[in-house]
Amino acid sequence: MARASSTSLFRVGIAGGGIGGVALALALQRLGIRSVLFERDASFDERTQGYGLTIQQGKTTLRALGACVVERVREASPPSTAHFIFDARGAPVMFWGWGEQSPSASLLQSASTPASAWDANRNCHVARQTLRRILLDQLDARLVDVRWDAAVEGAAMHGDHSALAPLAVTARAASTGATAEHRVACLVGADGIFSSVRKLLRLLHDDELRYAGVFVMLGICERAPFPLLHRRVVQCSDGDARMFIMPHDATHVMWQLSFPMPRADAEALARAGRADAKALIAEAVRRCGAFCTPVPAILQRTPRALVTGYPVLDRDAMGATPLSAATSAALGGRVTLLGDAAFAMTPFKGQGANRALADAVSLADALATRGATSRGGGRGSGTSGGRNSADDPVCRALRLHEDAMCARSAVKVRGSRAAVEQTHCADFIDVDAALRRRGMHDPAVPVNRERRERIERMRAANIGMHSEAAELDRAAFS
Ligand SMILES: Cc1cc2nc3c(=O)[nH]c(=O)nc-3n(C[C@H](O)[C@H](O)[C@H](O)COP(=O)(O)OP(=O)(O)OC[C@H]3O[C@@H](n4cnc5c(N)ncnc54)[C@H](O)[C@@H]3O)c2cc1C
Repeated sequence: MARASSTSLFRVGIAGGGIGGVALALALQRLGIRSVLFERDASFDERTQGYGLTIQQGKTTLRALGACVVERVREASPPSTAHFIFDARGAPVMFWGWGEQSPSASLLQSASTPASAWDANRNCHVARQTLRRILLDQLDARLVDVRWDAAVEGAAMHGDHSALAPLAVTARAASTGATAEHRVACLVGADGIFSSVRKLLRLLHDDELRYAGVFVMLGICERAPFPLLHRRVVQCSDGDARMFIMPHDATHVMWQLSFPMPRADAEALARAGRADAKALIAEAVRRCGAFCTPVPAILQRTPRALVTGYPVLDRDAMGATPLSAATSAALGGRVTLLGDAAFAMTPFKGQGANRALADAVSLADALATRGATSRGGGRGSGTSGGRNSADDPVCRALRLHEDAMCARSAVKVRGSRAAVEQTHCADFIDVDAALRRRGMHDPAVPVNRERRERIERMRAANIGMHSEAAELDRAAFS
């Protein structure tokens, strides 16, 4: 991999200091490429951003961001050893555990192993702000200029591709109203679902955000009163509302309650919830206050300040062609997108942050391997004076990134949209349907037959969400 000189004048502008933007700054730094990171918020803690992420394929990407990142995520990641789905009365619908993956280590044994959640075959949980903090802590001020209170508002091309930093990015400080101009070689919109950079592109693609038909509510509460939630992911549904609960950090769990709702009602509820989270809790109690224990108690014990809720939005998956047509035509082709700014998806497959991390690492690699950073950002390369964007190595690297990103993400957008229906319907709590979803429907396979028989035995013996955690594990896994 080409490593650019840290004294090079090549500098990437990044709009947005969320997971994707900070990961990009770090990935570029590791390749010796400088960047300026614009974040609209005045500081790291300006807004409550408290929800948890499940890192799946993103674990591979984290490795590319350095051993220190992996180590700190490993330390911060609360372990989970099993996943249960119950119906609203608490009867088991499906379960799986990572102890089963190794015939020599039962789940019950694994529950007493040290609290490491880092295993190649398993997802890990990490609070979004924790991951963001870990990534930010790795940034070196000599290579990354982090600008808080700097909302990117616009950009304009000054000169042609032969200039060192042909793009002038305008950022506004909300605290003073003052704007400042920053010269960069290219601009990456990592500014989330309502991306300002995306708006600069005037995409021909149908660019409307689409209401996915469900409202999602999030809360964080202490884990100690709920032994069931120690090391376990739990879902509970009545076939309409779905409560998903997972480890958040060493002492807390995060819950996500989602349910179908007409758009106007969802928007009204979000407005009421912003004014006072009491409105959200009241709706949650209305939807699942009668669910099996411990769901009602979890709602009761969640501090109001840690509850948020909003309508779920996504966008149609976009192909590389319409995206590249728009990015090539705008700002001399020196602009691109990543993460939610490029692909907004529903959270029901837990893919958004995993995708944003992958986009960040592959974009940094494309810039480094295409020689984009050499001689100050394509200066003098390609056609005479470097005036043709098709021959400009920076533009070529950005288009390469877009091809790879679209190939990766379009399928995840569609899968995440399909998951809305799959997780909010009667089939979600049907044992046969649940076995099918896990690929365990064929009774000729002994492990499938055994799983069904266990679920049926547990249901007949009234072992479920209300049971002692140890009894539940014994019935499921021993
Ligand atoms: C409840 C919930 C659960 C989720 N669970 C998972 C999960 O388990 N796994 C997973 O992979 N994903 C999950 N996601 C999705 C994931 O959080 C997002 O997809 C991911 O954070 C996207 O990262 P991003 O950097 O693209 O955008 P964001 O994280 O939204 O960051 C955008 C940043 O840009 C800043 N900004 C906005 N406009 C400007 C501007 N004009 N100038 C400068 N800065 C600007 C914002 O302040 C923000 O800091 C979940 C999402 C939600 C809501």
